[in-house]
Amino acid sequence: MFRPSFTLFAGRGPSGIVRACGKTRDTNARLAQMPDGVNRGTRTIGVDVGGTKVAAGFVDSQGEITQHTRTAMNPRGTAEEGLAAVTTAIDTLLKMAPEAHGGVQRIGICAPGPLDPETGVVLNPPNVPCWRNFPLAAEISRRYGGFVRIDNDANAAGLAEGLWGAGRGYKNVFYACIGTGIGTGILLDGRIYYGRTGAAAEGGHVIIDYKGPRCGCGKRGCIEVLASGTAIGKKARARLVEKAGCSKVMLELAGGNVEAITSEIVGRAYAAGDPLSKEILLETVELLAIWLGNIVDLLEPDVVILGGGVATMLSPFFGEIRNRLPAWCVNARCLEIPLVAARYGENAGIAGGGALCAAPMPA
Ligand SMILES: [Zn+2]
Repeated sequence: MFRPSFTLFAGRGPSGIVRACGKTRDTNARLAQMPDGVNRGTRTIGVDVGGTKVAAGFVDSQGEITQHTRTAMNPRGTAEEGLAAVTTAIDTLLKMAPEAHGGVQRIGICAPGPLDPETGVVLNPPNVPCWRNFPLAAEISRRYGGFVRIDNDANAAGLAEGLWGAGRGYKNVFYACIGTGIGTGILLDGRIYYGRTGAAAEGGHVIIDYKGPRCGCGKRGCIEVLASGTAIGKKARARLVEKAGCSKVMLELAGGNVEAITSEIVGRAYAAGDPLSKEILLETVELLAIWLGNIVDLLEPDVVILGGGVATMLSPFFGEIRNRLPAWCVNARCLEIPLVAARYGENAGIAGGGALCAAPMPA
């Protein structure tokens, strides 16, 4: 069974001696790396690496992000330039809290996938091409010492929700971040479910319509290509081209330029009472209900958590998604499963990074 080691990099103090559990050891690095809170001066840093920016923040034991910063990322430069963006964000954060210097840090990084959480290597992310088989965790650990973990953003954000957010108290969690794409994370018994090789939980690429439009992943009719923010914007633009003048509100919000219509404008137009926006959002609701019906039949999670900008926009429709669930689900008790909004918004990646360091160790 695939299982990230959680023990990649030794946590060493300035002397090079590993300190753990109140004892001084120079051999049992595994103990030293345990994110067990024994080192009381230790701070946890969550880092979120995206295609255009790197965000970093301190995350406390309750999942509160106490301070955070962000810096620009050039995804198409050299590998070293990409790394420099990450270290700049971390260094800036450390300057914001000088007292954090010197202690062993725990650093969790939401990095662009595909990646290998076991080895800490970023493989070949399409939106960050500067890194190919790049040992991100090892590079960060070499510079800062301490415990470093990386994972993809949906796994990590799902873990943060399970530990501190909307999934707190539940053992089995299905988390989806619906934004420009759809990323998902699964917690089973409170731990990220990775599958055999770490490639599990690609819920955004579950097919809803096998004759549907081609998804970026190569398949047809994935929920991502049908119900993401990108899909909603595209659908709205197509409807307006089909039938000119069918939504004055959307067109006005887009400054008269159909091509400038995004999912965010659809949401604002809905709030202003625009019927076409409502129609598009209700179609999205139906697609999400079909998808979640499949998910519930497969996993029967204790809770379903929806995060991301599109989920926020659709929050007035959560009841409607639930109402439609029984039509797409054989589970007679599907309505007992709470469908809730995520705790974390735009800082979900920082919280997720922090959660990677706070998660329980495997046996
Ligand atoms: Zn897909």
